[in-house]
Amino acid sequence: MFSNQIEEFIRLNKYPTFHPKAIFFDMDGVLFDSMRGHATAWVAALKQMGLPFTEKEAYLNEGRTGSSTINGVFVKVHGRNATENEKQTIYRLKSKLFEASKHSGKIPFVTDLLKKIQSQQLEIFVVTGSGQPSLINNLEVNFPGLFHKNKMVTAFDVQFGKPHPEPYLMALKKSGLKPWEVVVVENAPLGVESSSKAGLFTIAVNTGPLDPSILTESGANLVFNSMKELFDQWEAFRKNWRTEN
Ligand code: MG
Repeated sequence: MFSNQIEEFIRLNKYPTFHPKAIFFDMDGVLFDSMRGHATAWVAALKQMGLPFTEKEAYLNEGRTGSSTINGVFVKVHGRNATENEKQTIYRLKSKLFEASKHSGKIPFVTDLLKKIQSQQLEIFVVTGSGQPSLINNLEVNFPGLFHKNKMVTAFDVQFGKPHPEPYLMALKKSGLKPWEVVVVENAPLGVESSSKAGLFTIAVNTGPLDPSILTESGANLVFNSMKELFDQWEAFRKNWRTEN
């Protein structure tokens, strides 16, 4: 199991090997069960500004920076880009609604997986389109000792954001590793697209309501139906990594 997907990944990317030393984690929908809260907040914030937007659209846009999501809605509804002022007003409102929503428990089994990964001397990075000011504190409170501020790419670091490969390429640069030394854990189609375009092995965990086939179509190398399933299969996956030579 998993060896076919790994060998295909090596072959298609023309890499010499696959020997992961770091795992890059997306945040919303991977570490935190926050996507329902984000989806509801997006719909409500845009509605207040007279802009139609559905929860499904929120899930399909997941991973984009707030600014890019808002701009997409303006282009669709008004046929023009959003102004900086409009972006800031809506994003501030959306953040306020999200913070009041309390939809932010941890994804079950993700702490177990992170601890296992840490015990295996693999580095842990966060790569998120989120620009929440409280992001670093939130990670430290919920996952003490597992994340480090130097091993993080957020909305503040990037120009384009997901689905552009930029965030994952930036994390790769920060890590100093080669693309065959990294595994990405994502949940959203645009996040998978970003990571896959960056040439990284991408595991999609389908923690939301979308059909899992969209994650495969976006370029995921493996798709799991829950974090528990990934946690249970982690050793079997790791056994198929190539040894360093
Ligand atoms: Mg996500």
